Amino acid sequence: MSSILGISGDAYIDGKAVRGTQASFQAFDPAQGVEIGPDFYTVDSSQIDQACRAAQAAFDPYRATSNAQRADFLEAIGAQILALGDALIVRAMAESGLPRARLEGERGRTVAQLKLFADLLREGKWQDIRVDQALPERTPPRPELRLRMIGLGPVAVFGASNFPLAFSVAGGDTAAALAAGCPVVAKAHPAHPGTSELVARAIVQAVADCGLPAGVFSLLTGVGNALGGELVRHPAIQAVGFTGSRQGGVALMAIAAARPQPIPVYAEMSSINPVFLLPQALAARGESIAAGLAASLTMGVGQFCTNPGLVLGLAGSHFEHFSFSLAKALGAAPPGVMLTPGIAANYQRGVAHLASQDDVRAMLEPVASDTCKAFPAVFRTTSAAFLASAALADEVFGPVTLLVECADVDEMLTIAEQLEGQLTATLQMDGGDLEAARRLLPALERKVGRILANGYPTGVEVASAMVHGGPYPATSDGRSTSVGTAAIYRFLRPVCYQNFDLALLPEALRDNVPG
Ligand code: NAP
Repeated sequence: MSSILGISGDAYIDGKAVRGTQASFQAFDPAQGVEIGPDFYTVDSSQIDQACRAAQAAFDPYRATSNAQRADFLEAIGAQILALGDALIVRAMAESGLPRARLEGERGRTVAQLKLFADLLREGKWQDIRVDQALPERTPPRPELRLRMIGLGPVAVFGASNFPLAFSVAGGDTAAALAAGCPVVAKAHPAHPGTSELVARAIVQAVADCGLPAGVFSLLTGVGNALGGELVRHPAIQAVGFTGSRQGGVALMAIAAARPQPIPVYAEMSSINPVFLLPQALAARGESIAAGLAASLTMGVGQFCTNPGLVLGLAGSHFEHFSFSLAKALGAAPPGVMLTPGIAANYQRGVAHLASQDDVRAMLEPVASDTCKAFPAVFRTTSAAFLASAALADEVFGPVTLLVECADVDEMLTIAEQLEGQLTATLQMDGGDLEAARRLLPALERKVGRILANGYPTGVEVASAMVHGGPYPATSDGRSTSVGTAAIYRFLRPVCYQNFDLALLPEALRDNVPG
């Protein structure tokens, strides 16, 4: 074990720092191109089992805590994360290549998410209490019915590589699950194990300070798909939160569905976030839209699930002007450091694949890199070529976009109808574009979770009405969101109490006896 803010390489199981017994690994600093200590260790099957059993044992006492107790707990986690101070930011910078300002902002977002759920708990309405009074005179008589939501049980959370704080160990999935009364077994993303350990330590401290059962939170460390698979297979686990690749998400969905007791997987996977340049807006503001899109595309080196990877406009001089403005802005943008060598290699492959396609033209000469550095890229094609090749609609994670030239709004609509599910769609529109927007809207509502007018899809507000979700493959379950207070419903289920004596009813339902 090491000093208070030193990193030991340990996992946390049932409140205790524990060393994995399997393969060791180190974090990698993508900016410097070097491994960084200490060694971390992959946990074994019995350690996974121990974490899951501890979570199961903690479930009943934890969900029996009051709204106020759980709200205090969430805020205590936020306070403990802040108390980690600069050590957390410095370690996250080294493990991700992300700059200080971004990570300080992300830490603020993480604490704000915890506070948002604390406020939701204190307000109390999340339990969705419903009461149908008995109607003894009716034929047949109606019994008294009372409904409340309860937690699903222990949740497995897979931290995302691209948000080492806000979508990771104490990120949105963990905050929503803990708010719902569900213990969490988190799997540290192998790209930021030190950051994960520090945050886990903050949560473990908050668990102890709030007098909660230690099994409420565990952190598992390791590399290799076997660990995640075993975690999802464990009978104690009742739901999964995941952000990452489509391949990884689909694999976990299959494992969850094949269990003797299948469980829900809330996986956020791939999205190309189409942007529709409607004619009047393109004519009036093409240059400024190009500048806004370039900033959105290069922010965080394009490593956002909401990155605008597809832009549709009507053929003509305004689209030409827009395309060249965008290419110029992206060509002038410096290369950025990607999160991991694997993600940088995937980006290179994706860009090379686009460049090799018939009827796809590079607007910038693609620049290959043998380091984690990525250069922005922009390609252009026609609606006919786009519609003919499903591969052109695949997500390429990084600062790249594909411009599609359409003959008219009908072609835009045809493409919208053909797209897979998306997290977002954006309409760049002015007053004269209302009719075109109206025509596109029904298809967009069916395809995406958030529709923006005149904005850029990157930047997901932490607020009650936010939807960060969408039909498959944007997520595995388009009925839900992973950001915003509605995220709690992923980890809840309804229970109805029929004809219960007042003394036996849960307190929340007793308080809601109609007057
Ligand atoms: P990833 O490979 O999907 O990994 C995410 C987490 O899931 C890791 O902890 C990983 O650990 C685990 N995992 C992956 N496949 C698994 C499987 N078959 N069974 C069990 N566990 C599994 O994602 P990543 O490392 O963050 O990035 C890889 C690619 O994902 C990127 O290049 C990008 O294309 C995409 N990505 C997309 C988004 C988005 O928001 N759209 C975000 C991040 C990444 P192990 O590998 O150790 O098992």
